[in-house]
Amino acid sequence: MIDFQNILNTIVEEAKSEKNKGVVASYIPELAKADKNKFGVSLLDNKGKKYSAGNSNEQFSIQSISKVLSLSMAFKILGDDLWHRVGVEPSGDPYNHLSLLEMENGIPRNPLINAGAIVIADVLISQLKDPKKEFLKYVQQIANDSSITFDKSVAVSEKKTGFRNYAAANLIKSFGNLHNDVDEVLDFYFHQCSLIMSCQQLVDTFYLFVNRGNCLQNHAYLSLQQVKRINAIMLTSGFYDEAGEFAFKVGLPGKSGVGGGIVAILPDKFCLATWSPGLNKKGNSKLGMQALEKFTTRSNLSIF
Ligand code: GLN
Repeated sequence: MIDFQNILNTIVEEAKSEKNKGVVASYIPELAKADKNKFGVSLLDNKGKKYSAGNSNEQFSIQSISKVLSLSMAFKILGDDLWHRVGVEPSGDPYNHLSLLEMENGIPRNPLINAGAIVIADVLISQLKDPKKEFLKYVQQIANDSSITFDKSVAVSEKKTGFRNYAAANLIKSFGNLHNDVDEVLDFYFHQCSLIMSCQQLVDTFYLFVNRGNCLQNHAYLSLQQVKRINAIMLTSGFYDEAGEFAFKVGLPGKSGVGGGIVAILPDKFCLATWSPGLNKKGNSKLGMQALEKFTTRSNLSIF
């Protein structure tokens, strides 16, 4: 038996004493308020047992981690037709990169870069009557936690400084791959990114990607086929131009956000979430990446 609790405790101790904790994102002014000294980690195993250490109960802005949730909802509604609007190849570029979008006629490389998530937001707006409310309800349901909410101050803050996302949305619109109004799509996108969760809530929410599409209460939300595809996209594209490095060092599908959260999955085994607000140069949590690498090394558990 692997002593998960002991591994997590050691990881937190080591993270707390690490001197170089990375740089907190400041291009969304509200995110700059985060405390770099916070570090949380939670693991939920396939028997539903949860192990946590550090600031695992403190909520933070999940940002791009939400792209997996919006993708799963759009995929559930639209099925394989979704892939006419967005690709499934890694971009090898930063999350907010624009030039590929111009060269590839407004079809984003994948749904986990900003441009791809903006197209997914457009799909959801077309399909849902009250998109923000219904998306939030979906997230609350898969997590079995009705307390999960948006942080409106973060959504408003991002709207004021989201120049690159406006550029991406306008470029996509110019190619005809955005069916709704740019402002409406970005309003949804900024809200989705502003979801706040703790590491403990994140592992509950992402449990269905471990458990073949069934949430903790065993309700089926996605088919095994759909979960397989989403986990594949997380592995190849969940960390932008650091996806290769994450697969190389950690060996799990996962997704990061500029709020400093990371969630990673070993199908049929566990869901693991870390939070440390300081980022590395690629916009992924510096200590979170290190912690996940230590976890898979010390537990000898990875998809490889
Ligand atoms: N909301 C952020 C943005 O659009 C999300 C980026 C991220 O978490 N990588 O820039």
